[in-house]
Amino acid sequence: MTILIVGAGLSGISLARFLQKDFLLVEKESDFGGLTRSVSTSGFTFDYAGHFLHWRSPLIFSLAQKILRDDFQVVLRHSAIYEFDRYIPFPFQANLEFLPPDIHRICQAGLPSKQPARSTARSFSEWAKRNFGPGIFRYFLRPYNEKLWKINLDKLSAEWCPRFIPALRGKNKEGYNPQFIYPQRGGIFSLTKNLAKKIKIHTSCAVDKINWQKKYALLSSGQKIYYHYLVNTSPLPDFLNRFIDLPQAVRQAGQKLKANVVYCLNLGTEKVPFDWHWLYFPEKKYPFYRLGVYSNIAPAMAPAGQSSIYIEWSRRPEEKFDYRQQETIVGKILKQKKIIGPVLVRQWLKINPGYVIYDFYRRPALKIIEKFLTENRIFSLGRYGKWQYSFMEEDILGAKKLAELLNHARD
Ligand SMILES: Cc1cc2nc3c(=O)[nH]c(=O)nc-3n(C[C@H](O)[C@H](O)[C@H](O)COP(=O)(O)OP(=O)(O)OC[C@H]3O[C@@H](n4cnc5c(N)ncnc54)[C@H](O)[C@@H]3O)c2cc1C
Repeated sequence: MTILIVGAGLSGISLARFLQKDFLLVEKESDFGGLTRSVSTSGFTFDYAGHFLHWRSPLIFSLAQKILRDDFQVVLRHSAIYEFDRYIPFPFQANLEFLPPDIHRICQAGLPSKQPARSTARSFSEWAKRNFGPGIFRYFLRPYNEKLWKINLDKLSAEWCPRFIPALRGKNKEGYNPQFIYPQRGGIFSLTKNLAKKIKIHTSCAVDKINWQKKYALLSSGQKIYYHYLVNTSPLPDFLNRFIDLPQAVRQAGQKLKANVVYCLNLGTEKVPFDWHWLYFPEKKYPFYRLGVYSNIAPAMAPAGQSSIYIEWSRRPEEKFDYRQQETIVGKILKQKKIIGPVLVRQWLKINPGYVIYDFYRRPALKIIEKFLTENRIFSLGRYGKWQYSFMEEDILGAKKLAELLNHARD
């Protein structure tokens, strides 16, 4: 039985690791790892924006421990919001006393007296106001999320919120990532590289076309591969575009799926004057939304006395991004605020798609697509294969679950 796996990012590699059947794993890039690659230059190491392994499952903890060995470390989150020229420890809603007194009063006065039923709000705006009140919405949740998602927040669904936004009270008060696993050396790719050991990956080999009726795929190498099962981990809309004679309803559903693009500036600098792991920037005067410092988490990510930094911007796919202009603006602002020192190394990465947009078209469109794929022995996996806001743990576990299903499938 041949299982053809499209893409050797974390999902494709995890699936291959858990499969006990024959598979062919193809990756269009010359390196495997997808978003969990890391890049090194002049002694600085960077991920494709910060990739910290948050976990809930003991299985993920022990897997990471086993494969990272001496490089395994658990880190307690130390992050903040940079606003009103000060550092407000994250989560914002749990640290209102750090705000200027007048803003503190407004946020405090608007707090809901009890936690509302979380599932009732449809849009992000409605959900955020109901759960945190108008003050927190105005001073943090709205400006930050407008920057990140780049859509009107009334048109953004609230379905992803309870998992990702720390609650005001109760056991989710600290959010999903109060601690995380991060390799001591080599960035997140240390995890992926070790996970991929002994797995045969065909790099520089893309799936170009899929004939779903005859069950074969054409590869960029010119090969024609007949499959019993096809597993996709590449971005779902691109994947659907590769189908020959895709039913119109499915094609139209694919066109409804939207994502933003993330631009990431990596900087190697003299040591930063703070020990925060990452900072959120909600204010409009900062054109980026987040800045993180790898070397504050794993010192080996930068030479001694220096820092390895990433800064993230978000754009709609049709928007232009002026790299040089943004780099100049960011350098000026951050130096003026004494957030970064002299820059020694710079490098840009473009992450497209970046964040899947949870608008109200997404769910019905996915229903149509999934039905078609399942009926044709095709599975779509991972953050972009499932077109979801998922993290590494979830994608590894999703791959494991599918491997178990395929391991039991009849040949
Ligand atoms: C900005 C950002 C920050 C993040 N931070 C975190 C974090 O801190 N913690 C966390 O747990 N998660 C984080 N994530 C999520 C994490 O990146 C994903 O959960 C995970 O990397 C998804 O892996 P994947 O294999 O599903 O997708 P990908 O990494 O996208 O892999 C898909 C692979 O398919 C390949 N491919 C595409 N088309 C073809 C084709 N036609 N033929 C063959 N191959 C193809 C691609 O080259 C790629 O290698 C973050 C994501 C982003 C965007």
